[in-house]
Amino acid sequence: MVSKISQNTDPFSLAKELSGFHLIDGEMVRAASGKTFDVVNPATGEKVGEAAAGDAADVDRAATAAARAQKAWKAMPARERGKLVAECGRRLTERVEELGRLVALETGKALRTESRVEASVLADAFIFYGGLASELKGESVPFNPDMLTVTVREPIGVVGAIIPWNVPLMLMALKIAPAIVAGNTVVVKSAEEAPLTVLRVCQIMNEVLPPGVFNILSGFGPECGAPLVSHPAVNKITFTGSVETGKIVSKAAADKLIPVTLELGGKSPMIVFADADLERAVAGAVAGVRFTRQGQSCTASSRIYVHADIHDEFVAKLKAKADAMKMGDPLDEATDIGTIISRDQLEKVQGYIQKGIDAGGTANACSALPEDPALKKGLFIQPVIFTDISADAPPSREEIFGPVTCVFKFTDYEEVLAAANDSVFGLAATVWTNDLKTAMDATRRLEAGFVQVNQNLVVQPNLSYGGIKQSGLGKEASLEAMLEHFTHKKTIIFNMK
Ligand code: NAD
Repeated sequence: MVSKISQNTDPFSLAKELSGFHLIDGEMVRAASGKTFDVVNPATGEKVGEAAAGDAADVDRAATAAARAQKAWKAMPARERGKLVAECGRRLTERVEELGRLVALETGKALRTESRVEASVLADAFIFYGGLASELKGESVPFNPDMLTVTVREPIGVVGAIIPWNVPLMLMALKIAPAIVAGNTVVVKSAEEAPLTVLRVCQIMNEVLPPGVFNILSGFGPECGAPLVSHPAVNKITFTGSVETGKIVSKAAADKLIPVTLELGGKSPMIVFADADLERAVAGAVAGVRFTRQGQSCTASSRIYVHADIHDEFVAKLKAKADAMKMGDPLDEATDIGTIISRDQLEKVQGYIQKGIDAGGTANACSALPEDPALKKGLFIQPVIFTDISADAPPSREEIFGPVTCVFKFTDYEEVLAAANDSVFGLAATVWTNDLKTAMDATRRLEAGFVQVNQNLVVQPNLSYGGIKQSGLGKEASLEAMLEHFTHKKTIIFNMK
């Protein structure tokens, strides 16, 4: 198939080309209201494009198209659907560079350390789920010798997917790819801060998939997200975002009694025991705090508990590594750390840093702001490592979603486990030790959905991922997520007498 969409790979002109559109029923269309909102480059403060401001009328058009398309889509043999989804993955792989550059432009995440990697994970997720189509299997259940009892997996129908801005490509892929392989059709509501690259992904998919199987709307939460959740044609919601919005979405879905998957916030602990390999643990903290993404990660290691024997050395090494990272233009290959997504988010982070200082914490600022005059209006901030901060201070307990981590000293094993579990969140945790017994005991007792020992991995499409407590409901990624969250199990009994 020859590509009919532009071969434009320059992020600035691509942003203009994509401006003002949703993609509904296979067509690039403008909002019914004609309204748009600005898309801004967070590194310079300049407007780079516009997004269609979706509302209930656009939601209705997209959900109706998705419901219509679902009949033929679910009737297609699963392996045929899988082949088409894998083909999307191949086309996305060819455009990793283009997608990485565009997402760096609109989110401010550095191309080399973050954005290119994310585009590649997106493409991999489509290939991975495309290959799982033949795993949409049921079971035969022993019940009565005269009866043959089987279960089959059936699609749920139209899935509404609502995503945030921090890793829009990866999170879209982990929702959409399994949903459509399973025979559902989808309406995505993108994040208002990052609407363009996900639209480009849809244009690429639109060359492969039938119209209506996949639709994407841009717009704000109350105007576009809320009508998507409440639309009568939408049979399932998969949401990633804050706890606050997750509760609103969950209540609206409960009014319709439709299932919801929620991937929410975190305050993830990292515990470094005295016997840990210090260099590896420091490197793990750099990855875990996610300095390269300005800490805008749901799994960010934002509470680091370090044994008193190695605490000072750990802090000094961590600060030195963060200081050595270069902050600058996200599109520059030399840049390690880009920007914060928006001015609101920047002010929120600054507010938390001030609250931590007011509570008596020591704020160790790291790295250096860029000197380039072209970036003077950019949303840059120096990452902060708090030390000597109380466990009750706001930065110690609340999700900041910025480049701020709190390092605490501990001596007692039971006390550190209790402190790590003393949180409303339960998304991720890491343990650093060379003692097998400590590793095994701590991993079993930590209250989190994703626990790692002596490493800090990124999410992979084949690893089940999701939080407990207020970090969410249900899992994403893996075969299990496709089966449990995007199909329902039907039991059929054949009476053979
Ligand atoms: P957010 O909750 O403000 O917004 C998320 C999405 O919900 C956006 O698309 C927004 O427009 C939409 N929305 C807002 N109000 C809505 C409403 N009333 N009805 C329907 N949709 C609505 O979150 P954010 O600031 O974009 O993202 C940051 C949050 O996301 C953090 O809390 C972070 O931890 C979380 N997150 C979690 C994971 C995970 O996998 N657990 C991954 C990434 C981000």
